[in-house]
Amino acid sequence: MSSNTTSSVPSVRSTVHGYPRIGPRRELKRAEEGYWDGTVTARELDAVAADLRAGALDQLREAGVDDLPSNTFSFYDGVLDTAVLFDLVPSRFTSPAAAEDRQEYLRRYFAMARGEQGAPPLEMTKWFDTNYHYLVPELSPNVRPRLVGDKPVAEFREARAAGHHTRPVLIGPLTFLLLSKAAEEAPEGWQPLELLDQLVEAYTQLLGDLAAAGATEVQLDEPILATDEGRARSAELERVYRNLGGVTERPSMLVSTYFGSIGAEALRVLKGSPVEAVGLDLVTDDEGVEDLVKVSGLGSTRLVAGVVEGRNVWRTDVPATLARLGTVLGLTDELTVSTSCSLLHVPIDLDAENGLDPKLRGALAFAKQKAEEAALLGRALSQGTDAEKPGDGAEIPTFTDTRVRARLEALGPDATRRPEERGTSGRSLTTTTIGSFPQTPELRRARAAHRRGELPTEEYEALLRKEIDRVIALQEEIGLDVLVHGEPERNDMVQYFAEQLEGYATTQNGWVQSYGSRCVRPPILYGDVSRPEPMTVEWITYAQSRTDKPVKGMLTGPVTMLAWSFVRTDQPLADTARQVGLALRDEVADLERAGIRHIQVDEAALRELLPLREEQQQAYLDWAVESFRLATSGVAPTTTIHTHMCYSEFGTVVDGIEALDADVTSVEAARSRMELVRDLGERGYRRSIGPGVYDIHSPRVPSADEVEASLRLAVDHVDAGHLWVNPDCGLKTRGYTEVEQSLRNMVEAARRVRADL
Ligand code: GLN
Ligand code: ZN
Repeated sequence: MSSNTTSSVPSVRSTVHGYPRIGPRRELKRAEEGYWDGTVTARELDAVAADLRAGALDQLREAGVDDLPSNTFSFYDGVLDTAVLFDLVPSRFTSPAAAEDRQEYLRRYFAMARGEQGAPPLEMTKWFDTNYHYLVPELSPNVRPRLVGDKPVAEFREARAAGHHTRPVLIGPLTFLLLSKAAEEAPEGWQPLELLDQLVEAYTQLLGDLAAAGATEVQLDEPILATDEGRARSAELERVYRNLGGVTERPSMLVSTYFGSIGAEALRVLKGSPVEAVGLDLVTDDEGVEDLVKVSGLGSTRLVAGVVEGRNVWRTDVPATLARLGTVLGLTDELTVSTSCSLLHVPIDLDAENGLDPKLRGALAFAKQKAEEAALLGRALSQGTDAEKPGDGAEIPTFTDTRVRARLEALGPDATRRPEERGTSGRSLTTTTIGSFPQTPELRRARAAHRRGELPTEEYEALLRKEIDRVIALQEEIGLDVLVHGEPERNDMVQYFAEQLEGYATTQNGWVQSYGSRCVRPPILYGDVSRPEPMTVEWITYAQSRTDKPVKGMLTGPVTMLAWSFVRTDQPLADTARQVGLALRDEVADLERAGIRHIQVDEAALRELLPLREEQQQAYLDWAVESFRLATSGVAPTTTIHTHMCYSEFGTVVDGIEALDADVTSVEAARSRMELVRDLGERGYRRSIGPGVYDIHSPRVPSADEVEASLRLAVDHVDAGHLWVNPDCGLKTRGYTEVEQSLRNMVEAARRVRADL
């Protein structure tokens, strides 16, 4: 257990909350996908995983970090691992723990993550407000938490054999249960939290096992404490850590929190509990230090200060952070410098990038560099505050564009307002799609070849035009009303625009795990944003030239451009969103000038960026709405502005939807039985809505009868003149055979319902 030092210079150590698992060259992805295809054996997969774990620890050691975490690895997701560890397996699966061999263990484990014949996978959802997805455990009174696995112990032992004494990282019981959902078989009103005492009992056993294996400290992650839901649970928090603290033979406990401040109440509870160390995120918002002051410091409880931003790619301002830590030093006897959260959310190594502008590179740090920063801050503080300031002393560069700033300043209030009276489509139940059509293997291959320089641009573009011809002809033949060009030229709905905007950079190797083996490469929004030239006009006008029907222009909205990128933090997100909004406004104007009468600005991520705490949500919605309106309010009343969102449980966002003032909003609705349509109808919504009439996330072809039934349900709630008919998202992940049949059935269903109006 940690001891309480009385010397005047506190003992300062360094650590990180967690590290990326996918490997510097996405080795885990390759090995896993090979394993699923049958080209990699279980033994080979395990060997890759062991190498990756060892490599991560070596990197952290090399970075100079004092205290290394373990059990941060996962084959798919840490929440899933926790469910498996405690035997919390829904009845449609067989528990991996009971498997007779490794092969069978992995089969059962991956079945929970990816589904298998007759057993759909666990639901996947976003990990707080990050782009990482976890698997949602399904609990009921029929499951009994008990320790059946030894992953944390095994990974501790494995690290020790390689010479590292590590701190096993576990998801805390409160966070685990509050992120779980009640299984369908659970009685009405039953909550996973009812399993708390049993689960804590199982954790007790795990702590004992870890102590027996030689672990002296364990990390329990409780990020739920940064949400309203977690903040309301201080009684449970107190109970959990009093009980765990009572275990006689146990490692010391670090309860770590992140993604926001936890409030003085939770801090008081933790300070008064047997917990030896508390981790606070001192980056995400400023309240962490205030909370520490409110509880008069942590005293002999060690503070693990998350001052190195764990989920963004900017380098730490070392002098400013040292000054900040100086204040914090007075609030604790023992201090560890850490990252604000696990480094899972950033790419691994900046050294793997060679295409970045040197000035931009000078502002960046990826996981490895962030670990070095934590180590450096720890060393600087241990040597006393007046030791020479470390770091190269170079200022973090900024990238301002006075022209963009002047343009924004000159905008009047009318820039975000459209006239109340608009043109109408003049038809009930207008049919359309969300934008993308299937991305065929041929297209993907051609894009890759073009990127490698093996396919000349003219040939690549000729291929794209051929694809557009085919998509337009198909839509005409099916009888859709408002057509799309199909987005064949886009690799990704954010990256495509980031590559063309000033102020944005893309990386070659900046992969971050999104879920399972799936990785994304978020672009970096580093400076003032502007649009040097039109980005989509050529493709859209080409498509329009092939048909007499209207073709819809397709853009990605400001909030989504921010949500799926690493964004500068030297100015409020609101200001950055306005700049993106202005660049899009130029694109919208060019599309309109080129004769395009329907323009869709996708805001797939509007709800995703919603702050975790309610008190911050309105301010967010205000700027989110304003940036969208800035992008879309420059058009004539006869131009139809569309937007699209990939979900239908809008909750607090529903006011935001109205405020966007788009003429047509398409949403996912197929799986929620038109609830949003009903809500909007009841509110007297005055614009149009396009509830997704079938689910594109499955290859299943909906029958015309089925779509007709959904439409009839919708017509009951909203005037048919305000209803559009469309699938619930883009079609890029589907195949042509099913898309063709589904769209035919959709058009047929709209025709039937229209005939009865
Ligand atoms: N226009 C995009 C598409 O159809 C929208 C994608 C999305 O909503 N995620 O692919
Ligand atoms: Zn969508």
